[in-house]
Amino acid sequence: MKEATKVIHEGQPVDLTTNAIMPPVYFTSTYYQNGVGNHKGFDYSRGGHPNRQHLETALSSLEKGRYGLVFASGCAATTAVLGSLSPGDHVLSSDTVYGGTYALFTQLFTRWGLTFSFFKSTDSVSDIRRKITAKTKLIWIETPANPTLQVFSLPDCLAAKGKRKIKIVVDNTFATPILQRPLTQGADVVVHSSTKYIGGHSDLIGGALVCNDKKLYEAYHFYLKSTGAIPGPMDCYLAHRGLKTLAIRMQAHCDNAEYLVEELKKYPKISQVYYPGFDTKGLAENHMSRAGGVISIELKRGCDSDQFFKRLKLFRLAESLGGVESLISLPYAMSHVRMPVSIRKRLGVTSRLIRLSVGIEDKHDLRDDLNTALKGL
Ligand SMILES: *Cc1c(COP(=O)(O)O)cnc(C)c1O
Repeated sequence: MKEATKVIHEGQPVDLTTNAIMPPVYFTSTYYQNGVGNHKGFDYSRGGHPNRQHLETALSSLEKGRYGLVFASGCAATTAVLGSLSPGDHVLSSDTVYGGTYALFTQLFTRWGLTFSFFKSTDSVSDIRRKITAKTKLIWIETPANPTLQVFSLPDCLAAKGKRKIKIVVDNTFATPILQRPLTQGADVVVHSSTKYIGGHSDLIGGALVCNDKKLYEAYHFYLKSTGAIPGPMDCYLAHRGLKTLAIRMQAHCDNAEYLVEELKKYPKISQVYYPGFDTKGLAENHMSRAGGVISIELKRGCDSDQFFKRLKLFRLAESLGGVESLISLPYAMSHVRMPVSIRKRLGVTSRLIRLSVGIEDKHDLRDDLNTALKGL
């Protein structure tokens, strides 16, 4: 099956008690056992739940992985990956990551004995190899990266680790399995914030992991079941309902973003436009079919970003991205505020960097909205 079919049919069995086309939302914490241990695969909903299982089936199929697990949030999924390591282990990560991921790395897991170092998207294979130590257990890349949208090369990470027993984790939130499937290119684990494109309607918080290795899956499932960072049945239902249009939504997000990128380049008030589509080599290396729906821009010095936000009518100032509606944000003071200022500055996350999550409204309406707001600056 192709992705556009999978998003609709995977993990959506007909309900055999009523023949309902839509699987019901199972609001239950526990399950009848006809004798101890004699149940239908579910015993207590922290360990497993039908609506979660449906979503896990769909996501693992889309990512072409054997095992899927869904979590209460993207950060909970990240926590399961890091929490399955041991004190003393080292993680090498892309320098640009979601602010909450950076906070987990540097403010939480360092206290539990993990160590972290970072590499740049421009680092060569030998640069990356030099940063690997005897303790390195994970290479973590977010690609395209939030918010400056660099592409981190998966083949370069694979080449750098060579035969070492290091797992490669890809945060695939921005691309989604519609645009790239890292497990098919050699990655070991895919992480998602399904809050974003997978859910697609800004109405839930959720996360997911997909992998092929049974031992890894068991470790992550142990972590999920033990810590209880599980999503509720309604959130799983909503995420799955959103997922059904992921294939067409992603094409619409890409169409609109590609159009707006060309328009934004023309504005004199903008000093720089960031879009993964400018890095054609990087996209090809990662087998990423299109560049996605997020664009970042940097306003020229002296332009008042607050004025810009206030003049916009369609792009609403808000955290998050990946919904059908267009949103705009200032990562410096919002999603990435937990990164030290010096690091934000070094990564180009300045107080003039603005992130646009391009929705699927009419592209000319979006252009006019930006145009009117920029003209007044
Ligand atoms: C939002 C986000 C996360 C965290 O996900 P939550 O669902 O907010 O916990 C992780 N990675 C990326 C790239 C994100 O954009």
